[in-house]
Amino acid sequence: MKIGFIGLGNMGAPMAANLAKAGHEVAGFDLAAPCPEGVRKAASAPEAAAGAAVVITMLPNGAILRAVADQVIPAMAAGAVLCDCSTVDVESARAVAEHAAAAGLAALDAPVSGGVGGATAGTLTFMVGGPETAFATVEPLFAIMGQKAVHCGAAGAGQAAKICNNMILGVTMIATCEAFALADKLGLDRAKMFDVVSTSSGYSWTMNAYCPAPGVGPKSPADNDYKPGFAAELMLKDLRLSQQAAEAVDADTPMGAEAAALYARFVEEEDGRGMDFSAMLPRFEKRSRG
Ligand code: NAD
Repeated sequence: MKIGFIGLGNMGAPMAANLAKAGHEVAGFDLAAPCPEGVRKAASAPEAAAGAAVVITMLPNGAILRAVADQVIPAMAAGAVLCDCSTVDVESARAVAEHAAAAGLAALDAPVSGGVGGATAGTLTFMVGGPETAFATVEPLFAIMGQKAVHCGAAGAGQAAKICNNMILGVTMIATCEAFALADKLGLDRAKMFDVVSTSSGYSWTMNAYCPAPGVGPKSPADNDYKPGFAAELMLKDLRLSQQAAEAVDADTPMGAEAAALYARFVEEEDGRGMDFSAMLPRFEKRSRG
């Protein structure tokens, strides 16, 4: 299949490389990042998109996605699918889908879970919004770049699933970290805490699979000086998207709002920038109640 791939950063480069490795003809474009091995460098986003059956974007945010979509939609072949894998706001995803539909093209919002490790290993999870037929077209590519693709519904449903999942993730990470910091002050051994909680009703992905305490549970960024992993600023981005969405539809999300405020403080006023999002634990360790 001929594929255009726009946005070859930390996530996009390994995803595009995996498609090329699987035998697809991939033309890539990025404003700054180099093309990975096997991917032909296009001179512009429209050039990467021209003649492709599927155009994939992996970009920083909704504003950039809208701008790139404005450039590439007029260049796309009839019947082609525009598949955005970035994490963006639901409104931008729906606006791009409408723009594509007006040009006679189909668009999917297909954000991912799994991080750079999953992108490199080809084990991402895709959550996808948009027409069933477009999903069927791109499904073989999802199978190369990932291990699971869920068709969640109409345009925007993929982004909705992503930000709801990550709102739970942010809230749960904070809860797990503050509980570890409390356990420390109560004199409870961290390994015992893990042993109990990981098999009790407080268990979660953040405790069981991504434990924020170094030396406890499976290997995680905590065991690597909290180098990301999943950076605190990306968690903040996703929590802000959840709050933007909650405001747009008048949903009450007090825990999500609190988590967004705490990660904002951590990243923008404290020392969280560049740290994994589980570095909330050393943050709580240093603090007292007042
Ligand atoms: P990144 O910053 O490494 O990559 C984005 C790339 O887009 C950059 O190389 C940049 O040069 C390029 N770009 C920006 N504007 C462009 C334009 N107009 N035309 C062409 N290229 C342009 O970011 P990333 O970590 O690869 O993340 C990409 C998306 O995936 C984000 O939306 C992020 O939220 C999401 N995501 C990231 C992770 C992660 O762990 N890194 C996990 C899941 C989802």
